[in-house]
Amino acid sequence: MKQPIIFAILALFPAPSFAETVFIRAGHLIDPERQTVAAKQLIRVEEGKIVSIGPDGPTPADAKIIDWSSKTVLPGLIDMHTHLADGMSLPHPADILSVSSAEAVLAGAGAARKTLRAGFTTVRDVGVYRGLTDVALRDAINAGFVDGPRMKVAGAYLTIPGGGGDVTGISPDVGVPDQFRYGVARGPEDAKQKARFLLQKGADFIKIIASGAVLALGGEPGQEEMTEEEMLAICKVAEARGSYCIAHAHGAKSIKAAIRAGARTIEHATFIDDEGIALAKAKGVWLAMDIYNGDWIDSEGRKAGLPADYLRKNLETTDVQRTGFTKALKAGVKMAFATDAGVYPYGNNAKQFAYMVRFGMTPMQAIRSATVDAAAALKMDGQVGSLKPGAWGDFVAVDGNPLTDIRVLEKVNSVVKGGELVAQ
Ligand SMILES: [Zn+2]
Repeated sequence: MKQPIIFAILALFPAPSFAETVFIRAGHLIDPERQTVAAKQLIRVEEGKIVSIGPDGPTPADAKIIDWSSKTVLPGLIDMHTHLADGMSLPHPADILSVSSAEAVLAGAGAARKTLRAGFTTVRDVGVYRGLTDVALRDAINAGFVDGPRMKVAGAYLTIPGGGGDVTGISPDVGVPDQFRYGVARGPEDAKQKARFLLQKGADFIKIIASGAVLALGGEPGQEEMTEEEMLAICKVAEARGSYCIAHAHGAKSIKAAIRAGARTIEHATFIDDEGIALAKAKGVWLAMDIYNGDWIDSEGRKAGLPADYLRKNLETTDVQRTGFTKALKAGVKMAFATDAGVYPYGNNAKQFAYMVRFGMTPMQAIRSATVDAAAALKMDGQVGSLKPGAWGDFVAVDGNPLTDIRVLEKVNSVVKGGELVAQ
């Protein structure tokens, strides 16, 4: 009899209240959409959403004011490739079997909090080994139980048995509970069923592991895992449900197969070749290239005792991915900010900005990739990453000017989400 009572309480308090009006004074306001900076602006947020932005001026006597008049303000940041719900960095892939589902989700809550406080007010969480923990974390954040970014989640990985999204590194005669294998698929028909299951259980999109992974035992990043036929079947299921598929693809062949199958974004895109670049451009596919974490894995991950196989594959993929990033950027392929948070400690997402600038972006382009461009890739245009009236009142403030020194974004200490002050 306890369940109905809990649901009744949830219905009474479904989400935090946003009824109040909040004014934010911005010393400088960066508009990534228009690529402009305006001095001394006043932002009015009502019920969590932007109502108007204009020159700073008088506010009502009893108004709630967030005074960032000495800071540079920009829309809340978006990371297109995180793993918050797998909330703990474990050195061995099978270590996930040593923690309970509750421990994993609670660790995810900690990861979500750190990420939000680092200025990332929206993330796309692209897969968990323990299926659907990400759905639980997203829903807990939306209900106001846990502090964290707005999340779009995958539910699990659509992967071949033993592939980059399966639990690897265990003996063949050791059984693994079903929840770790919600997305392990054998052939197109099975892949369809698994995709339908995840969407029905609350996934926002489907994440396909098209090629081998760096951080998995067995499988090489350059090798194909899921076939084009399987990917096509999955992407059609997602599309029919008003959703979409995305693909983890390091290898050149897997990248092209995933694009042809209908993937909306290509994750990693490490060994992308000229043909892949042309195809991505022609089809308007986004690349989500995590060009920061290779350095972290090689230094800190090495010290933390990551398996030798991970370290070797990381070295084989780091520089070539950065070269590919520069090439694809020059060719005009759409790029979205994506870091693979969880590989490195949570809250350090913004460290990737400097890499994006070093490998070819202007600071404004890098900011766009984590705001207006990421929002478009997420199909959340005008809702997040934007200063347009009607968008969520999500903002970050920094000391200094990120357009002259992008690294100031690594020190975000003031965050507002939905008009509510998260950190000052
Ligand atoms: Zn990842």
